[in-house]
Amino acid sequence: MQKPYDAQNIFARILRGEIPNKNVLETDHSLVFHDINPAAPVHVLAIPKGAYVDFSDFAANASAAEIVDFHRACASVCDMLGLEAGGYRCITNAGADGMQEVPHYHLHIIGGRALGRLVDPA
Ligand code: 5GP
Repeated sequence: MQKPYDAQNIFARILRGEIPNKNVLETDHSLVFHDINPAAPVHVLAIPKGAYVDFSDFAANASAAEIVDFHRACASVCDMLGLEAGGYRCITNAGADGMQEVPHYHLHIIGGRALGRLVDPA
């Protein structure tokens, strides 16, 4: 399903260079940068450069080259930031129940301390 994409979302603006940010890695199809409000000692966001709203939009509509580039960029960053030894967590939020705030697909890569349970009991 093609989802409507808001070209004014904050990550689209970062990709256009309209907002300063701290890049960790840029590849042909992907950008990884530090989260402005980190939840752990390491908290970066990986985004595709293409206009995809969320995980399912990216999985369904991105090219194979974009999908491979994105996942390899994420894995490279885990290595670059020293997360492989202690471990890390990759999270993507989608939609209202997932509490996605920014409607451009992104993977949170979080680590640098023990992260506790995946989901708080409601
Ligand atoms: P979501 O809730 O959509 O999964 O996560 C959005 C993330 O984007 C949050 O962790 C938030 O801190 C981060 N964020 C929001 N605005 C900015 C910004 O302008 N720059 C950066 N680097 N991160 C941002």
